[in-house]
Amino acid sequence: MAKIDAAVEQLTARLGEALGERLAAAQAGRNREPQALLAAADELAQLMRKVAYEALTEAAGRYEEAPLCPGCSRPMERHDRVWRPVLALGGPLRGRFPRFRCRGCRRGACPSLERLGLRRGCEPRLVAAALKLCAHESFELAEAILAGFGVSLSDNTLQRLAHEVGSERVKQREAAVAAVMAQGYRNLPGRSAPPRLYIMVDGFKAKVAKQWREPRCAVIFETPQVGADERNEPPARERVSVLATLGDCATVAAWVTEEVQRRNVAEAAEVILVGDGAPWIWEHVADVLPKWVKRTETLDWYHLCEHLALAAEGDAKLLEELRDRAWVGDTNLLLDQLRALREAASGERLRVLTNVLKYVLDHRWRMDYQNKRADGYHVGSGSVESCCRQLGNRVKAGGTNWTARGINAVLHLLADELTDDEVRLAA
Ligand SMILES: [Zn+2]
Repeated sequence: MAKIDAAVEQLTARLGEALGERLAAAQAGRNREPQALLAAADELAQLMRKVAYEALTEAAGRYEEAPLCPGCSRPMERHDRVWRPVLALGGPLRGRFPRFRCRGCRRGACPSLERLGLRRGCEPRLVAAALKLCAHESFELAEAILAGFGVSLSDNTLQRLAHEVGSERVKQREAAVAAVMAQGYRNLPGRSAPPRLYIMVDGFKAKVAKQWREPRCAVIFETPQVGADERNEPPARERVSVLATLGDCATVAAWVTEEVQRRNVAEAAEVILVGDGAPWIWEHVADVLPKWVKRTETLDWYHLCEHLALAAEGDAKLLEELRDRAWVGDTNLLLDQLRALREAASGERLRVLTNVLKYVLDHRWRMDYQNKRADGYHVGSGSVESCCRQLGNRVKAGGTNWTARGINAVLHLLADELTDDEVRLAA
């Protein structure tokens, strides 16, 4: 106890001295400016943190019990104490940690430092904040924001940190996916199953190793009830998960498999696939779902509207007409109208209309919007669009020339940020 008292005494003396100096300066009429007072208070608080951390680690270290040697399991012996810099939220600190040594195999250990869980010298709360920033913003901007809070971490260090942690999470995901793929779907006893489980997918563009690639994004969510809510709207999305990867269609399909298995898809009443019209969702993703679960396929309403807008070519009244026909499910009339437009067209316009016509023809049986909406289904992939936009903006930010590993790591970090806490794999 006496030793702790000594440490506290030392701490009190150092802080008292600093506080006295600042107060005397203010009293003497120097540093009367509000900004200067604020800076002095900050400086004092900073000093207090530093001194307190040094004293606390020093005191706690004295009572640290000797661990067993990880090599030979014999009790280790106290060896010395080491000073280590610790970068924390609010600025740099220095702690003093006891080091132990095994007499038998000469192995060393510093258990309290290991328990602290530093990554690149940063304590876990700072790591979490830095990763959150790097998920949403360029490494350069993350560096500038952290600098404003007294944390000096270079964009290079932030990039390494994000790549390291993101890659670990990708590995963790891959292990979980491999386990599910090996086992197949199974009921999760005691776990309720979603009445309606949605899978929405989309892609976006990113430059990786100087080539344009198309990372893919899947958004998975549930609604707690079948049918519309009391306002006649589709029930709110719950348990939203976002997946994003540079991987191919089969990879995305496997990731979706793991995600829906965790939600007990085998017992689900219905799975709803909402896609932009790219064939891979109907081919790859639909293919990995359990065959016995009812499946509904919907062409994303917003993607259809984009195509119809191309056909209408700025004619607002025509666009409204086309949209109305599509919404009520009058696909024959819609197709007739598009064919009539195409007859009158030539050149580039003919090409555009031919594409739109094919799009509607291919997906006409996935367009029953009015009825689906009345039954409380979500028919638009607005949520996946918004996720794709955020993911796309992040990988475009700062003009980073991505490696495949780097982009996958950062996509995973941002996808985790966009995922509800309760369904995050890492949770
Ligand atoms: Zn040993």
